[in-house]
Amino acid sequence: MIADVLIIGTGISGLSFAIKLAECNSEISIVLISKDQVSEGNTKYAQGGIAVVSDFEKDSFQKHIQDTLTAGAGACNPEVVKFVVEEGKDRLKELITWGIQFDKQKRSLHLVKEGGHSEKRVVHYKDHTGLHVQEALINKIKSFQNIQILENHTLVDLITDHHSEKKYNRCYGAYVISKEEESILKISAKITALCTGGAGSLYAHSTNPSIATGDGLGAAYRAKVHMDKLPYVQFHPTALYPKVNENTFLITEAVRGAGAKLRNCSGEYFMKNYDPRKELAPRDIVARAIQKEILKQEENFVFLDCSDITIETWKKQFPNIYTTCASLDIHLPKDLIPVVPAAHYFCGGIEVNSASESRLKGLYAIGECSSTGLHGANRLASNSLLEALVFSHRAALDVINALKSELPDPTFYDALPEWKGDAYSNSVEIKEIRQLRIQLQEIMTHHVGIFKTKEGLMKANLEMFEIYKKVQKIYNQHKLTNGMCELRNMVSIAHLIIQQAQSITTNKGVFYNHDYA
Ligand SMILES: Cc1cc2nc3c(=O)[nH]c(=O)nc-3n(C[C@H](O)[C@H](O)[C@H](O)COP(=O)(O)OP(=O)(O)OC[C@H]3O[C@@H](n4cnc5c(N)ncnc54)[C@H](O)[C@@H]3O)c2cc1C
Repeated sequence: MIADVLIIGTGISGLSFAIKLAECNSEISIVLISKDQVSEGNTKYAQGGIAVVSDFEKDSFQKHIQDTLTAGAGACNPEVVKFVVEEGKDRLKELITWGIQFDKQKRSLHLVKEGGHSEKRVVHYKDHTGLHVQEALINKIKSFQNIQILENHTLVDLITDHHSEKKYNRCYGAYVISKEEESILKISAKITALCTGGAGSLYAHSTNPSIATGDGLGAAYRAKVHMDKLPYVQFHPTALYPKVNENTFLITEAVRGAGAKLRNCSGEYFMKNYDPRKELAPRDIVARAIQKEILKQEENFVFLDCSDITIETWKKQFPNIYTTCASLDIHLPKDLIPVVPAAHYFCGGIEVNSASESRLKGLYAIGECSSTGLHGANRLASNSLLEALVFSHRAALDVINALKSELPDPTFYDALPEWKGDAYSNSVEIKEIRQLRIQLQEIMTHHVGIFKTKEGLMKANLEMFEIYKKVQKIYNQHKLTNGMCELRNMVSIAHLIIQQAQSITTNKGVFYNHDYA
C-alpha cells in the first residue's frame, strides 16, 4: 500500500491533522490507522477541556503564557508557549465552525478554572470534552473521499534508510500489523506522522487506557530519532480509588476548581501545609502532597471533600463523575471521594520543531507523543488538547508544502522491502508477556514514580535490563503479536526513561529525586 501521508493514531492530533490536510488538498491520499477501534485513546477520556483565552475582559494571552511558563518550571520554550497560546483562539473558532459545541453561560462560553490557571479559561463540554470532540472529528472525517481509515492496525516499525538500499535520510512509512488479515503490511508514504499518544500504561496506576504503551516512542527510538524530557511524567493528583472495572477513573481538576477540598484520612485539610494556592496549585505540587500524606498516614488514598458543590452543579457540569460515584455507593455531594495520584501525561517525547517535524525528515510527531517545548517540566492543565490542535494545523501547512518539494521517485517506494520475518498470528498466546508487563509496571511505579532516589533508579535500571533480555528472546523466537509489540515498546521506553532520569540532578516540575532535594 502506498499513501502520500500515513497518519498513525486517531486521537485529536491524528484526526485534526488529517482533516486539515484533506481540506487543503483533496487530491492527496491519506491513510489513517489506529491500533484499536478508531475512538480508543487518551482523547476519548479527556474530561476537563481545552485551555484557550476567550474572555478578553478578564483574561489575556499574557496571563495564559505566564501560567504555562510557571507550571513548566523554567523549562518551557517561551517562543512555543507564545504561539500556542495566541493561535489557540483561531483553533477553537475552527472547532466551533466545524459544528463542535461547548457549554455556554448565557451567550458566552462557560469557562472553568483549573489548577495552575490564574483565570477561568478552560472551555468544555460537560465533563466529557474529549469524547465529544473526538466523535465530532470522526464524523467529519467520513466526509473526505481521500482519507482511508484502517482500524485494528498496529504500528510495528518505521521504514527508514535502515530498510532501503538507496539512502535519502528520511522516513518512508511503516510496517503495520493487520489484525484481520493476520499479516504484516508495508505502508509506504512520502510523509509519516506519529500521533500515537502517551505511555501511561508503563505504570501500575494510570488514567490512560491500556493501549497507551508508548508505541510511537518505541518505534522512533528504534529509528534513532531524538527524544527529549522523557522522565517528566505527570501524575494526575486525583484518580478514584479503587479502580472501576480494572480501569482508573479520573476526577477532573475542574472539581477542585469548583470548590472541592483535599483531606487526609484523619480529616485534616492538608493542602495549606504545602502551597498557598492550596487545591489549585499545579498538579505536581498537589500530587506530591497527596503522596506524602498517603505515605505518612500509611493509607492507600486521601479524600476529596465536595460538600461545597451543589447537587445541581454535579448533575449539570460533572454528570459522568456523579453517576460513576453513585454506582460505587458514593453519593455526592455529601460523601467523600477516595482519590490517589495516577500516571497521566508524558510531558516529553519525540523532539519536534515548530511545524511538528522530528529530526528525521518526513517524520512528524503530533500531540502527546511529541516534545514541542510547550510543557517544559510540567504541563499546565488542559494545555494538551490545545497543543494537539495548534501543532496539527502547523504540521498540515508544512506537509502541504513538503509534498510539493522534491521527494524520492514513486518507484522507490514500490521497491521498499516487505517486512522480514514471520507473519502475525493472533492465536499464539505468550503467557510470559502478561507477566513481564506487570513486572515492568511494578518497577516503574516503585522506583521511577512520583518520588525517585539514586539507589531506586539504579535498581530499576538493572531489573529493567533483565526484562529487556527476556523480551528480546521472546521477540526472536515467536511470531509478532500486538501484545509483543506493546511490550517491546514499553521496555525500550522504560529503559530510556530510567537512563535519562539518572542523568537529571535538579528537581524541576514533575521530576523529583529525594537525593537532590
Ligand atoms: C483521563 C484523561 C483526562 C484528560 N483530560 C484532559 C483535559 O481535560 N484537557 C487536556 O488538554 N488534556 C487532557 N488529557 C490529556 C489529553 O487527553 C491527551 O494528551 C490527548 O488527548 C492526546 O491526544 P493524541 O491525539 O496525542 O493521542 P491519543 O488520543 O491517545 O490517541 C492515540 C492514538 O494512537 C493510536 N496508536 C497508539 N499506538 C499505536 C500503534 N502501535 N499502532 C497504531 N495506532 C496506535 C491509538 O489507537 C489512538 O488512536 C487527559 C488525558 C486522560 C487520560
